[in-house]
Amino acid sequence: MTTQPDDYISTREHVRAYLDRALLDAETRSGSESGLYDAVKQKLMESDTHLVAHYYVDPQIQQLAEETNGLVADSLEMARFGARTDARRLIVAGVSFMGETAKILSPTKRVFMPTLEATCSLDVGCPENEFKSFCDSHPDREVIVYANTSAAVKARADWVVTSSIAVEVISALAMEGKKFIWAPDRYLGRYIQKQTGADMLIWDSACVVHEEFRLYDLDALQLAYPDAGLLVHPESPEEMIDRADAVGSTTQLINAAARLQNPSFIVATDKGIFYKMQQQVPEKLLIAAPTRGAGGTCQSCAHCPWMAMNRLSGIERLLDDWPESCEVLVDEKLADQAMKPLTRMLEFKVPYSG
Ligand code: SF4
Repeated sequence: MTTQPDDYISTREHVRAYLDRALLDAETRSGSESGLYDAVKQKLMESDTHLVAHYYVDPQIQQLAEETNGLVADSLEMARFGARTDARRLIVAGVSFMGETAKILSPTKRVFMPTLEATCSLDVGCPENEFKSFCDSHPDREVIVYANTSAAVKARADWVVTSSIAVEVISALAMEGKKFIWAPDRYLGRYIQKQTGADMLIWDSACVVHEEFRLYDLDALQLAYPDAGLLVHPESPEEMIDRADAVGSTTQLINAAARLQNPSFIVATDKGIFYKMQQQVPEKLLIAAPTRGAGGTCQSCAHCPWMAMNRLSGIERLLDDWPESCEVLVDEKLADQAMKPLTRMLEFKVPYSG
């Protein structure tokens, strides 16, 4: 599978344009938002609402979720929490597929996001129609999609998985003799294939943040910090994964920072994770992994431009007006179809291996 959808190319342009704008006004914006925190917290506490935040959003928003009985987590735990909490409304601080998943799993709750424009290059890089035709041309294969996909793509899948359980799910199914279609992240797909030996056709898309992590400058950094462990998210290129001391989902990387004995870590994932990771290991030094280096074209610089769209001012606007333009709605029939592979993921138990 070597398709490179045009949408994915245009996404890169969108990212660059967004970052150029964002870099220009970042200082002004954070200065103007610093006084908002207490007011937003008060409004959130008085509202029948829980804030569910991803590890990659602004640290202030993660703190807000923690201090108001919400949750900061990876996408799997965000989905679980949204479904079990009894609040009438959820605010999802993350990207659009997380809002959609929350709505699918909690159809009776109203789900809002600070902006519905916060998407993900993996989601955009796996357009529904192309993906369906691809699946239809390989009817003998089990279709497994990453959580970072639209509700329509999930609805076509047999399984949805997050990076925290992808290896275990595919390994268990491969033992039943199954062959797979995997979408959309090519790096994670190759990592799973290597770990499990499974027969997989892999869609060709990537995360615009993680694929920027390369070996450029890593040697120099490892020379400067010889005791530092290397923690790598599996959406990163193979050259990074091959050198890692631990590879895993966001939660697994946070746990690895606590488990491994190193006094410092070079971390190859979105730097928003530093907020929770540093809480786990306050005595350890955390260093952002280098991206493509000075001569490269990196513009994400280890921070997702769409996650960065979640702002305190956006949350305040929700709490004041609950604008319809920020409410996540998913077509009922589509939600029913997507619920099946999502439920399989939520109910999956790692088989006992003896
Ligand atoms: S960090 Fe990458 S995978 Fe995560 S939301 Fe941003 S673009 Fe998507």
